[in-house]
Amino acid sequence: MRVNIIGGGLAGCALAYVLKNNGCEPVIYEAGSALASGASGNDVGLYNPRFTAQYDAVGEFYTKAFFEALRVFDDIGAAADWDPCGALHLMNNPQKEKRYPKTVEAYAWPDNGMQILTPEEASEVAGVDILSGCLYLQKSGKISPKKLCSVYASGVECHLNAPISSLEDLDGDITVLACGSAAKQFDIAKHLPIKPVRGQVSYIAESEVSSRLKTALCFGGYIAPAQNGVHCLGSTFQRWLDHDNLIAEDDMANIEKLCDEVKVLAYNYNIVNSKAGVRTVSQDHFPIVGQLGERVFISTAHGSHGILSSLLSAIILTDIILGAGNQIVNEGTMMALSPKRFVVN
Ligand SMILES: Cc1cc2nc3c(=O)[nH]c(=O)nc-3n(C[C@H](O)[C@H](O)[C@H](O)COP(=O)(O)OP(=O)(O)OC[C@H]3O[C@@H](n4cnc5c(N)ncnc54)[C@H](O)[C@@H]3O)c2cc1C
Repeated sequence: MRVNIIGGGLAGCALAYVLKNNGCEPVIYEAGSALASGASGNDVGLYNPRFTAQYDAVGEFYTKAFFEALRVFDDIGAAADWDPCGALHLMNNPQKEKRYPKTVEAYAWPDNGMQILTPEEASEVAGVDILSGCLYLQKSGKISPKKLCSVYASGVECHLNAPISSLEDLDGDITVLACGSAAKQFDIAKHLPIKPVRGQVSYIAESEVSSRLKTALCFGGYIAPAQNGVHCLGSTFQRWLDHDNLIAEDDMANIEKLCDEVKVLAYNYNIVNSKAGVRTVSQDHFPIVGQLGERVFISTAHGSHGILSSLLSAIILTDIILGAGNQIVNEGTMMALSPKRFVVN
């Protein structure tokens, strides 16, 4: 089966990877001059699930996405700078102090894969002083989304500088929209409640203290352990902006948040680089994955968790396309992902 994929970011490339491994012939059409021209173009990203207090559709989706990602990264992650350095999610406000222990109990990950640590235990894991308790994901970490796109798309037919404006222009058996909020430019998807949300990450030179950081820290923002003396520090959220020009104040905001929330890392950091991008979010903050029309499918709205969600979405979509019926997630989660949830009767 020849499958047109519109968009060469994480959603499109992950789908191409899974389709190819299942005997299909994916073809990527990317508007930009390279893969990962949009939100997926960061050099460093953290792969973390979204946390809810119950093991609901969100819990099932991101748990399965996490373990699928570990399996795939174990195979191909080295070429995308995969570093399973662990992630500490600071319980730095009363809501998180209440919610994270419930998450750990409800998700019940095997082998202490998700656990609550005291400040002392967290400090030991982090290599720097952490003042609050934390939710700890031992096998979480960082990877390069940009390189991951190339690795996923290796051996796949890719057309760059190829903006698609009409689905009728394409040959192939079916088409998948994996082009973020640009999906709305196609009539078949224009009713979907998806919006762009701009963000910027800052790359900062390590300080003497921050160079000791061994795990990723998530505190509202996030900081990854330094790679060649540079940390990735993220990220801003601007629901009202949809451009990827750099904004100097965003770097200041990222650094200020780090200094406020992780006192031991407060420092006058040098900014080495910055990168802005535009996420796509849906009204209910859950990805949109499934069939839109007779020969048209979609994978979008990966929000702030696209490294994980793009891969499981690709596995689910491949299963739907091939009619394999593998029940990768339960029926309720499939409904929660489906574009049909937005159809007004
Ligand atoms: C600042 C920032 C930090 C982030 N940090 C993290 C993180 O740490 N961890 C994490 O998991 N996620 C993170 N994310 C989110 C993650 O990057 C996104 O969820 C993910 O990149 C979405 O992938 P996508 O393929 O859906 O979209 P995109 O990467 O935007 O890909 C869509 C592609 O479609 C192309 N396109 C659009 N229209 C057309 C057309 N008509 N024809 C052909 N091509 C078209 C675009 O050029 C683009 O390349 C971050 C996002 C931002 C902005």
